[in-house]
Amino acid sequence: MTKALIIGGGIAGAVTAMALRKAGITPVIYEAYDTGADDIGAFLTIMRNGMNALHAVEAHQPVIDAGFPATDVEYLDGSGTRITLNPMRGGAQTLKRAVLYRVLHDEATRRGITLHHGKRLVSASTVDGVVRAQFKDGTAAEGDLLVGADGIHSATRAIIDPEASAPRSTGLTIAYGYTKAASFQQSADAYRMIAGNRAFFGYTTAPDGETWWFSRAPELDLSTATKQNFIDLLAGDKTPAAEIVRSTDDLFITNAYDVPETRHWHNDSMVLVGDAAHAASPAAGQGASMALEDSVILGQCLRDIADRRAAFEKYTGIRRSRVERLVAESAALSTDPNRRVAAPGSQDRHWLYDHEIDWDERIA
Ligand SMILES: Cc1cc2nc3c(=O)[nH]c(=O)nc-3n(C[C@H](O)[C@H](O)[C@H](O)COP(=O)(O)OP(=O)(O)OC[C@H]3O[C@@H](n4cnc5c(N)ncnc54)[C@H](O)[C@@H]3O)c2cc1C
Repeated sequence: MTKALIIGGGIAGAVTAMALRKAGITPVIYEAYDTGADDIGAFLTIMRNGMNALHAVEAHQPVIDAGFPATDVEYLDGSGTRITLNPMRGGAQTLKRAVLYRVLHDEATRRGITLHHGKRLVSASTVDGVVRAQFKDGTAAEGDLLVGADGIHSATRAIIDPEASAPRSTGLTIAYGYTKAASFQQSADAYRMIAGNRAFFGYTTAPDGETWWFSRAPELDLSTATKQNFIDLLAGDKTPAAEIVRSTDDLFITNAYDVPETRHWHNDSMVLVGDAAHAASPAAGQGASMALEDSVILGQCLRDIADRRAAFEKYTGIRRSRVERLVAESAALSTDPNRRVAAPGSQDRHWLYDHEIDWDERIA
């Protein structure tokens, strides 16, 4: 049976393994960290299209069970005035990144997929059709193909193309946090997005009453960025944003990067999925959903096209224009953080949110 080495046990890695297994391939996942729960402070929303992709490989239910839905997105300006209220048209789920990793790993394990932790890929080569992956701990693994699901700073991308572009700064610093305080207007069942005067702010209240929030600000120096920076940036708005940040004990602060174009998504035996191939700034909230779509389409291509290079070419052909359009849109939102986002209910976003993948559809 064909064996695939999956590099990275994140969102794309776990779901690519499930899709490949459904396609009759034996996947083995190699994750760099001892656990998959780094970035423990952040949360994610899997949009309707990402949930559709999970549905295609019957992996949606554990994510639904671990997350919570939102029905509307409400946009406010810095004066607290509502700009618009958009319905989500159903399907999106919000959950903490560490929880998402855990449920996907549990589901992969339940399906009999092996996941090795502490395996950081450092090099890979192909000899006589056998791919050999070398890990930092001195061990190695061999297989018939290798899938680079190793995120935005992908080692696999550089192995496939040593000249590949490095991730690009989006010029944004993102803060995330959680608060149990209830002194402000809560936002159960809705995301409240605030185009503040100096920073963008979004929040939603989970079923247990904890408010989950993020803020996007023009880039700060990470070595000195603090909670007070965000309070100061948000304090001039007549919204609950500054109060929410003030009531939060621990903040997760990071700078955001994207990868707008990767020349080579594959060679004869190695292929990229998710952020390794194309990373969007967080502004559109679509990176995870695009990674999930990649995973399923790659599984279909490898199921239906016997020649591996042709399967990789077909997969790239199906995916490239869609993800590059998304990365460009997300970058435009990043450069103008106060720009109003067209939400899942609006007509001009059909192409993005209503994308469906039918696992049984044959890839020509
Ligand atoms: C602050 C922030 C907020 C975001 N918010 C959202 C959101 O709300 N919605 C959304 O859809 N997207 C969001 N994104 C984007 C989303 O996180 C990514 O698009 C998504 O995680 C991509 O999944 P992936 O599996 O390709 O990569 P990752 O989730 O990054 O997984 C890569 C995995 O590979 C492992 N790895 C790395 N290098 C190696 C190596 N050499 N060997 C072995 N393993 C390796 C890593 O440890 C990791 O587990 C956000 C991103 C950021 C930074």
